[in-house]
Amino acid sequence: MTDGTQPGASLADTPGRLGRDAVVIGGGLAGITAALALADAGVRVTLLEGRPRLGGLAFSFQRDGLTVDNGQHVYLRCCTAYRWFLDRIEGAALAPLQDRLDVPVLDVARPEGRRLGRLRRDALPVPLHLGRSLATYPHLSLAERARVGRAALALKGLDLADPNLDTQDFGSWLTAHGQSARAVEALWDLVGVATLNAVAGECSLGLAAMVFKTGLLSDPGAADIGWARVPLGDLHDRLARKALDSAGVRTEIRTRVTSISTDDNGTWSVQVPGETLRADAVVLAVPQREAHDLLPAGALDAPERLLEIGTAPILNVHVVYDRKVLGRPFFAALGTPVQWVFDRTEASGLHQGQYLALSQSAAQDEIDEPVAALRERYLPELERLLPRARGAEVKDFFVTRERTATFAPTPGVGRLRPGARTKASGLYLAGAWTATGWPATMESAVRSGVSAADAVLGALGRPRPRHLFEFEEAA
Ligand SMILES: Cc1cc2nc3c(=O)[nH]c(=O)nc-3n(C[C@H](O)[C@H](O)[C@H](O)COP(=O)(O)OP(=O)(O)OC[C@H]3O[C@@H](n4cnc5c(N)ncnc54)[C@H](O)[C@@H]3O)c2cc1C
Repeated sequence: MTDGTQPGASLADTPGRLGRDAVVIGGGLAGITAALALADAGVRVTLLEGRPRLGGLAFSFQRDGLTVDNGQHVYLRCCTAYRWFLDRIEGAALAPLQDRLDVPVLDVARPEGRRLGRLRRDALPVPLHLGRSLATYPHLSLAERARVGRAALALKGLDLADPNLDTQDFGSWLTAHGQSARAVEALWDLVGVATLNAVAGECSLGLAAMVFKTGLLSDPGAADIGWARVPLGDLHDRLARKALDSAGVRTEIRTRVTSISTDDNGTWSVQVPGETLRADAVVLAVPQREAHDLLPAGALDAPERLLEIGTAPILNVHVVYDRKVLGRPFFAALGTPVQWVFDRTEASGLHQGQYLALSQSAAQDEIDEPVAALRERYLPELERLLPRARGAEVKDFFVTRERTATFAPTPGVGRLRPGARTKASGLYLAGAWTATGWPATMESAVRSGVSAADAVLGALGRPRPRHLFEFEEAA
């Protein structure tokens, strides 16, 4: 952007024209979604992103000839908004779903040695689709499996619209419903830590119930897992940028917004270094702390609540071996600090050997540990899990740390999450942390972007694009 010029059409340039200029601040999935939805509805959109790329928290970078994701990302078939997004950017084929949920779960803490179990589904109606898998799940006793079944049915009966659920913690609820520490570790946390980024005891019952009900107890295929077979940047930066360009969105990267304000006529001014952009509507799609700092006075009743939303880290451990040590695309682990392991060889462009990414959620205890300490911990653990790693040479070992990967899904967080509308006319919020009902996920980000776009379109009196993601009716 050239200093001092207006980056797009502005109200100041064309007085009297029907207002339909929007500025979207933040080029993560929420902002990209809002920008696409608005442009598809005929709004003139400028998207401003402070970093040199789009994609926000889900991105890729280059390292010694490899394309590395900052963190392994997965989604589920029930993530209908993110799937809409993938379709919209023509990326669905690059991040396909499993035909049927199938998660290998390797336990290395057994006296008799490594043991492989599987969480998979059958082609039966809910909840029978998981019945056989649960009945044969070797990491729980018979009694534990029966109690898991009963707790799942109790979970299915919870009313997600009940605000009291958010005040309780999931761990206490599981204990009250007969779940042993082992059942929590080998099943509830195995899924919950990866999807919610918190252990059950530190997680809102409302958010946990939402995840388990939607993923495991709604539609038989709801928990089928999808993940990018290409670097995340191919989807969230390259393809997203292409879709934005063809939709007519003006996208400016390396453009950090320093302040926003409105005048008496309701025209918004968005300040970036060397320039002011004007707009009829602004979507603030930045993390909650940045949103707090940019919000004009009076835009929210209790803006300090945004600062009360905690954050939770995710650590990724990356290991490049000189040979193939893992024969599956991914697995989850028990009895070891290792959580989920993905084969990223092909996606990263590695031609020789194998590249594994370990996704370590709720990593508060490890996020600041030196690489050497993590190496000393994780390489022997991988050798326990993968016998073929024992004789293999480690060509590279590095870590990526996302200290504020997600908002912390603690009990009570629900009341801190604002919706898309603010009290300032023409100013809207988006971001995975806003009140979508979902934990901090790509799904939540996309949903928030659609909600913000819907609110803008309503205010500008413009029809919703026909192919925009439709929110499902509440049951
Ligand atoms: C390691 C890791 C693993 C994860 N795993 C999963 C997973 O498996 N599945 C899943 O669904 N989700 C996962 N997530 C969460 C998911 O990535 C996020 O919830 C989602 O990407 C958030 O998108 P967003 O648009 O709401 O926010 P962000 O991605 O944070 O985007 C906000 C953007 O705003 C920009 N910005 C901030 N301030 C300004 C400013 N002043 N001016 C201009 N731009 C600004 C930022 O640079 C950023 O690009 C993971 C996250 C991490 C970090």
